[in-house]
Amino acid sequence: MQNHPPKPPVVLAIGGHDPCGGAGIQADIESIGANGCHAASVVTCLTIQDSCNVSRLIPIPPDTITAQAQAVIDDCPVAVIKIGLLGSLSAAEAVVALLRENPHQPVVFDPVLTAGGGRDLANESLLPLLRRELLPCCSLVTPNTGEASRLAGSEAEGVIDNDGRALLGLGPQAVLITGTHDQSRPSEVANRLYQADKSPIVSVCPRLAGEFHGSGCTLAAAIAAAMARGEGIEDAVRQGLEYSWMSLRHGFRLGKCQSMPERLFKYPRQKPEDDE
Ligand code: PLP
Repeated sequence: MQNHPPKPPVVLAIGGHDPCGGAGIQADIESIGANGCHAASVVTCLTIQDSCNVSRLIPIPPDTITAQAQAVIDDCPVAVIKIGLLGSLSAAEAVVALLRENPHQPVVFDPVLTAGGGRDLANESLLPLLRRELLPCCSLVTPNTGEASRLAGSEAEGVIDNDGRALLGLGPQAVLITGTHDQSRPSEVANRLYQADKSPIVSVCPRLAGEFHGSGCTLAAAIAAAMARGEGIEDAVRQGLEYSWMSLRHGFRLGKCQSMPERLFKYPRQKPEDDE
């Protein structure tokens, strides 16, 4: 009898395309592959951008998004759906409808509201839909501190625990608020995981110099891959944080502004220099 190699778990990544390859769906595909899974991918919007900022979003028709994603789900054993930049209200509505059609799929949602260069990527009209309809479908939501306070609609910016609890109250199983944008900690980054009926789990790592393009995508995709491999949320978050920190640690600056993460190593670590 012929021996077949083991099949990798499938993560369906739904997000925008960044032509410079640092963020978006390309980041997802690399991160998911490096973390031992197969990436299926559906593009919600094209973008015009470079390593400095995004200048334009070009939405993909919502029925194309739905038809592509459903075709993959009907054909392959999708273990986890990872959602990134939606780029338009109609894309967000299409994704919510898709999740309602497939209510048992674990979902990791990275709410991309602003580009690293500062450009707003989410119209205010999108926020109520994200809060009321998308967040309740999610296993894990991974905003940075700025995205968390905007999504939570908080008045007092900087009270991170309040935002974590407010977002958890909207219905996801867990919320991970990443601390890169929290400049009150100049030499470290504190990431906080909120789950119902548990104290927040805070993990602190050394802050790396420079700015990176696609760090949030890299992290959320690595966590989705770990969940697809069968890890629970706490272990998946721990592994995803370790992998993405290593990918930034070995990142490279190709363009004029933000550096690109180096994602193409197998995780758990196999390169000797990763032990540094
Ligand atoms: N997805 C796309 C297509 C983007 O263009 C961007 C940022 O510009 C992001 C996601 C978010 O990138 P980051 O992971 O740096 O927040």
